[in-house]
Amino acid sequence: MTQQLWDVVIVGAGPIGGRCATLLAERGHSVLLLEEHNEIGRPFQCAGLVNPRAMRSVSLEDTILQEIDGALIHGPSGTLVPVGEKNNPRTYVVCRKRFDQGVVQQSLQAGAEIWLNSMPVDASVDVDEVKLTINKDNEIIELKCKLLLGCDGAHSWTRRYFKMGKPKELMIGFQVEVVGYQSDDRWLEMYSGSKIAPGFFAWVIPSGFDTHRIGIWSTAEHLNGRSVEQCYHDLINHPLWAERFRDIQETARYCGPIPCGMVKNPVKNRVMLIGDAAGMSKPTTGGGIGPGFKQIEMIIGELSTAINNNQLSQKQLQKITSKKWHEMKRTQDKARALRDLLVSNCTDEELDIHFENFSKPEVLQLINSVGDIEKPVTLGMALLKKVPAFRKLALKAGVKLLFT
Ligand SMILES: Cc1cc2nc3c(=O)[nH]c(=O)nc-3n(C[C@H](O)[C@H](O)[C@H](O)COP(=O)(O)OP(=O)(O)OC[C@H]3O[C@@H](n4cnc5c(N)ncnc54)[C@H](O)[C@@H]3O)c2cc1C
Repeated sequence: MTQQLWDVVIVGAGPIGGRCATLLAERGHSVLLLEEHNEIGRPFQCAGLVNPRAMRSVSLEDTILQEIDGALIHGPSGTLVPVGEKNNPRTYVVCRKRFDQGVVQQSLQAGAEIWLNSMPVDASVDVDEVKLTINKDNEIIELKCKLLLGCDGAHSWTRRYFKMGKPKELMIGFQVEVVGYQSDDRWLEMYSGSKIAPGFFAWVIPSGFDTHRIGIWSTAEHLNGRSVEQCYHDLINHPLWAERFRDIQETARYCGPIPCGMVKNPVKNRVMLIGDAAGMSKPTTGGGIGPGFKQIEMIIGELSTAINNNQLSQKQLQKITSKKWHEMKRTQDKARALRDLLVSNCTDEELDIHFENFSKPEVLQLINSVGDIEKPVTLGMALLKKVPAFRKLALKAGVKLLFT
């Protein structure tokens, strides 16, 4: 028989829905995960980078395909900036399908239930509960819960249904899986320039077994009528880099959205958004797994108490989230402002000058000592303060940061 009343119903069994389900079920709450697909981890739309903090949260080291020591970053005219240290892993490349399955498996072990082929079609919020109409295997089921969590990704149904705002930016990510690319397996490569990744960067990530993930992300505004696929062709045929891509053979390709910029109202009465649904991906890298994990982990204790007391009005949820999430949003906004200043709003000529400065030994030393992909604001501020060539940007940055 179907249980009709749940503490929490989570829409979306991606990594963030799975992690939320684990943390809630571990605290004794009854949790139902709804997943519209009939399997976990598909469709695959990810470069598969998981940072050490997020990996520690779930201990899914068996899903790691490759450890990454650093990045070889190329300026538009070829200036190389190597960031990282040999045999000192900074991040991991995972098999995303196995990673997502592992995260969801942990939630089931903690006591959560999952319905595949299931999605909400209607919802209404009362004083004491949320009423949901679910389409499960083409059968309509009514149920109730105390709290509805929207972990349903970039195009979140929950966010749209409850009119909770839009992420500030929606990037387009495009990725091709290949064999035959020759590189050092412990380093990822990044390429920049208006033809191949306008305003952002392209990546080549080793993913074990002689395979690589070649991707690009940008915005419609920066692409200005071009497609990300055209950018990909410009990358692999670029006079400076074509030789490296000469022997690649494509095995798969996919395209997906990357929402960066927390929505205006991540909570409403008895409804909360986490992960891509809330616009949590990083404006500097597009990574969304780490921020989504952090977003739930930082409030889970208070949220669990609120569920036990059934105190889940918008005001009560705001009390739990607003200070902590506001801090995350501020960091996200600052990172975006620094990204725009140093990369996204630069011409290729300006970028080349930045790369010349980045590649100076003393600046490289600073990047390698302060540089942490998790803390781009700290690095950006250090560059502006300590590198004479960037000082004239400091005033501009100061003004931008004042208004973020
Ligand atoms: C090309 C590309 C590369 C990326 N690379 C990285 C990277 O290297 N590292 C990183 O951290 N992030 C990366 N990201 C971002 C990352 O994929 C997301 O941030 C992450 O998947 C967010 O997890 P989520 O659980 O919030 O959403 P999702 O992973 O999108 O999961 C949402 C789940 O909800 C389900 N769902 C959606 N709607 C409904 C509904 N109405 N009913 C039921 N179920 C529903 C979906 O089927 C899915 O299973 C990349 C993204 C792209 C596009």
